[in-house]
Amino acid sequence: MESGNKPPKSPRSSRPPLPSWRNPRFLLLMLVCVAVFAGLVEFALASRQHDNGPIVHQTNISQVLSLADQHKLSSATINGNTVVVVTTNGQHYSATKEDGQTLTQYFRDRNVAVTVAQPDTGTPAWVSIVAEGALFALLIVLAFVIIRRSSGGAGNTGQAVPFGRSRAVRFNESHPTVMFKDVAGAPEAKEELQEIVHFLKYPEKFQKMGARIPKGVLLVGPPGTGKTLISRAVAGEAGVAFYSVSGSEFVEMFVGVGASRVRDLFKMAKENAPCIIFIDEIDAVGRQRGGMPTTGNDEREQTLNQLLVEMDGFSKHDNVVVIAATNRPDVLDQALLRPGRFDRQVMLEKPDVAGRISILGVHAEGKPLAPNVNLERLAKQTAGMSGADLANVLNEAAILAARRDHELIQQPDLEESILRVMAGPERKSHVLTEAEKAIVAYHEMGHAIVMRMLPGCDPVQKVSTISRGMALGITVSAPAEDRALLRRTELLGKLAGLMGGRAAEEIIFGDITTGAAQDIKMATNIARRMVREFGMSPLGMLLIEDDNVGPQLATQADAEVSLLVDQAYKTAKDILTEHREKLVSISEYLMQVETIDAQELDLLLFGPAGRLAEVPDTSPDAVTLEGISA
Ligand code: ADP
Ligand code: MG
Ligand code: ZN
Repeated sequence: MESGNKPPKSPRSSRPPLPSWRNPRFLLLMLVCVAVFAGLVEFALASRQHDNGPIVHQTNISQVLSLADQHKLSSATINGNTVVVVTTNGQHYSATKEDGQTLTQYFRDRNVAVTVAQPDTGTPAWVSIVAEGALFALLIVLAFVIIRRSSGGAGNTGQAVPFGRSRAVRFNESHPTVMFKDVAGAPEAKEELQEIVHFLKYPEKFQKMGARIPKGVLLVGPPGTGKTLISRAVAGEAGVAFYSVSGSEFVEMFVGVGASRVRDLFKMAKENAPCIIFIDEIDAVGRQRGGMPTTGNDEREQTLNQLLVEMDGFSKHDNVVVIAATNRPDVLDQALLRPGRFDRQVMLEKPDVAGRISILGVHAEGKPLAPNVNLERLAKQTAGMSGADLANVLNEAAILAARRDHELIQQPDLEESILRVMAGPERKSHVLTEAEKAIVAYHEMGHAIVMRMLPGCDPVQKVSTISRGMALGITVSAPAEDRALLRRTELLGKLAGLMGGRAAEEIIFGDITTGAAQDIKMATNIARRMVREFGMSPLGMLLIEDDNVGPQLATQADAEVSLLVDQAYKTAKDILTEHREKLVSISEYLMQVETIDAQELDLLLFGPAGRLAEVPDTSPDAVTLEGISA
């Protein structure tokens, strides 16, 4: 809904005029902003009254003292009888000391920095009163100005600027220097997009042939697979400007703004052609229309319509290509995918092992890697990761190496970073009792032994009792090669492997814990899909969805799911009973060393002359983590 007022057209400047202070709509926006700001300040002041610092775990004072003895504390704050300590790896613990117990010297003797806190006085009341008063005054002044303006005040200098226009300055213009060589892997995608590069670079060639130039390319792929990166590389290769905007930015609360922003964006792009318009998260605007006739959709629908109008309005000579990205192509409005709009789709997928090697290579550039670093091995351990995850692994490794005072980034820095990116950083300070440590070790070793012994299982890569993220311990396994299909026996093997943790607890301790919750969740999910989606039960080749089957079939399906899980549990228990001695000896060893890798596990299980030669060293995919949750 643009006002009829056209802004003064200046032929040279592609930029819209700056927002005018005299524009009532602009002032109205200011008013809203001030009100929102006032709310935020209030909220900030209010939340200062509460302690919203880091997570502080409760513990008892003797635990704190023992941490100090082990030199695991970096600082302590004593406030009355409350002692808050920070461990060397950043965990916060709070404990209450006894009256009259003096700890300051005790901590100082153990190199712990001690602060004796003054009682917290909080924010003085006058601060918030003054702040609110000032904001209130500002609101009144603004309201006053608006009233004067709209009652036809002073001379008619600046024209009223349509609201949508004033925001056009927010389009992100850049001239990327990224090239295709910076995008590793994805050869098909690059090939498809190479044509766009040609078109932007040599438009006459195509126009002479009367070719219909592609206007829109839809990039489809999961997050972090390089959709933004490759779009920027197209601009970089062609040497053209790059206008980027996110679909969610289009959909704003002011009616009419989205549509007029689209109009402005395309206008600006045409004036600056050749160029690329990049619309990220296009599903935010481009969802299927005509669902429920709610008013909330109006805005989005108008924005989408405007987008379609603009794309249809391109003439042969408009040297502009629109690239849009989404990970939900299924929800897009069909109208967007018609010829002449986003009729080209380019898929970006999670990289396979070769792709991962080259992505690691790209991001290793400029980082001092030790000569013995083996990117191929890292690629095998990072199956299922996206390009963004891999970039993150290298960055984490660089940080770790710096923190460890290494001259170069070493293989162990990199391997630790993989686990960090997958499961979160280590929580060595996570305090477990001796009994709990034993349960975690046996539980993880239960997973590992079942997986190693069952032929259909993915090779175990690492077993660890170090807590990470939510997990108290982890067993990392990955299939031996990139896989697109899974056999039934493999799924049964996965199920049994997941049961291994709980089975070990039952065999060794005669009692079970809450630690298998995550395993149970994953196993139920696999078994359900085997029965309901993959037709792998006696019920046959039926798709069983809750809303398309009768109650009887649903009940039968549930029974089959439960049967699969029960059988898997029995398999796991049989294996662990048979190898009980190994389970005990290796678990006890694991408690000491905390982490065992694939080679060592095989050595322990089969002995030096055993089946060590069979250690699989082919490329894994889809890493699965069997964590036991806290
Ligand atoms: P998306 O837009 O698909 O979510 P991005 O393009 O934002 O993904 O990727 C995020 C980051 O991940 C990039 O900036 C880059 O560092 C890294 N990355 C992703 N894919 C690749 C790739 N194929 N080659 C090199 N780096 C990549
Ligand atoms: Mg992106
Ligand atoms: Zn488990």
